[in-house]
Amino acid sequence: MSDLSGKTAVVTGSTSGIGKAIALCLASSGCRIFLHGIDAPEIAERAGEEMHAAGAAAVAVGDGDLLEPDAANDLVAMAHEHLGPVDILVNNAGIQHVAPIENFPDDEWNRVIELNLSVPFRLIKHVLPTMRENGWGRVVNIASVHGLVASAQKSAYVAAKHGLVGLTKTVALETGGDQITCNAVCPGYVRTPLIETQLEARAKDEGITVEEMVRPFLEEKQPSGTFVPPADIGAVVFFLCSDAGAQITGSTFTIDGGWTAQ
Ligand code: NAD
Repeated sequence: MSDLSGKTAVVTGSTSGIGKAIALCLASSGCRIFLHGIDAPEIAERAGEEMHAAGAAAVAVGDGDLLEPDAANDLVAMAHEHLGPVDILVNNAGIQHVAPIENFPDDEWNRVIELNLSVPFRLIKHVLPTMRENGWGRVVNIASVHGLVASAQKSAYVAAKHGLVGLTKTVALETGGDQITCNAVCPGYVRTPLIETQLEARAKDEGITVEEMVRPFLEEKQPSGTFVPPADIGAVVFFLCSDAGAQITGSTFTIDGGWTAQ
């Protein structure tokens, strides 16, 4: 198994949810971990302790709202200052908004495109020069099945995630030959706050409990009938960062319980 000790990994949105599971997986291979999120300080602190317990060589935490101008630049500078040059960037922070196009608020469209697509673009732009200098780098973009197929009422998210898959391919072409890879991971439904909000809204519409909503919600899209465990996404990200991933670039990895096989 590859050892990532000596590497510094930045995972956006990693104080909770999928990002935290990814950071834990990288921590257990000995990486220095730069955690980031906008959760309450005690949540970030607890996540930091979990990273140390998992085996992280060092841990630092940043809390910038990535929708603020200059936040991407500041985040990379902060990680560099605390843990050294960024070797691994995982673009994970993301948001969703669900509404039919005619009622889709312009400001929600802008926020979803900004955080899910433009922020990864800026972070990649800021980390690539150092990765090139060091002759090694891994960029993993957490896209979604919605980077490959659409669902109704998710126009901004689907557009942003399709864009992120396109960005992934372009970065791969521009970094080929520099020992830098860039790939996208495309999960199906994972039970995190992002999905909990949708489950609650659908349960309310149908007049049933959230737990009663789980089965029809999954049956509609995800043939496995089970949520994807966040740790499975961490394992794929680790694989892409390992030596075995050196020749994998510009690819999309679905972890979707069969969603996109239909
Ligand atoms: P989540 O809501 O649990 O976590 C999102 C993370 O993003 C949080 O850590 C939060 O701190 C961070 N974040 C939110 N707004 C931010 C902002 N303005 N600035 C900085 N950070 C911000 O969601 P999740 O389900 O863990 O999603 C993580 C990624 O996985 C997202 O990119 C999402 O699109 C993607 N994804 C999720 C699912 C799913 O079913 N949950 C499926 C496919 C893809």
